[in-house]
Amino acid sequence: MKDGCILCDHKQFEERLIFENEHFYLISAPLQINVGSVLLFPKQHIPCLGDLEKSQLAIAGETIKHIVSALSEEYNKPVIYEYGDVGTAVKHACLHIVPVAPQTDLYQGLKSDFRIWAQIYSFYALHTIRWRFGNYIFYQNPEGIITAFIPISAQTVLWSDFALSHKDQRPFLMPKFAEFLTEVFPKIGPRYLEMILAKAIEKPELINLDKTDPELNNERQVSTRDQLKKYFT
Ligand SMILES: [Zn+2]
Repeated sequence: MKDGCILCDHKQFEERLIFENEHFYLISAPLQINVGSVLLFPKQHIPCLGDLEKSQLAIAGETIKHIVSALSEEYNKPVIYEYGDVGTAVKHACLHIVPVAPQTDLYQGLKSDFRIWAQIYSFYALHTIRWRFGNYIFYQNPEGIITAFIPISAQTVLWSDFALSHKDQRPFLMPKFAEFLTEVFPKIGPRYLEMILAKAIEKPELINLDKTDPELNNERQVSTRDQLKKYFT
């Protein structure tokens, strides 16, 4: 628990609480990009899910399966994403889960910004990715395909690995690395993923908080909580 962290302060979200177990909270998301938007986050104050113990990642994986099945039944299959340890003001791990119309996919949007990504096959891999590459952005599409996009620090690691094994080619790779630095790093700010999502669902107004209707948003928060509670009793 950390003072000043909104996800460590139970009072900040108790009205929106859908479910909790020993390690996690599931709440109705503050910003209802689509009705049914939820956040899953650990009770422990850690920067990203990759910092969870493997046993806790396994519990998270099972919980996510349950959430996906509840959302699919009640709304639509969701996209799921996590900022890892980049671009967020709150340094508390948090998974964003948003039901979307079929065929919605953020993959192309992310792929055009990142040079490095890896398809992973289970939640466990986040632990390794965090340990091995430092930062990442986690994304799971509605079909359940998981991709980890690895920003700048990972490139540094990969580059040094590459340089060790391909010493003579080093000068030819430098320009690409410089380009990567300037192109990718500034884009990962707060709401980066929401912007990609808003574009994918063709609702650009959703990322502009000034234009969000607070009453409608509030109604959706309550409805999401009430509709989903029955799946977690
Ligand atoms: Zn916290």
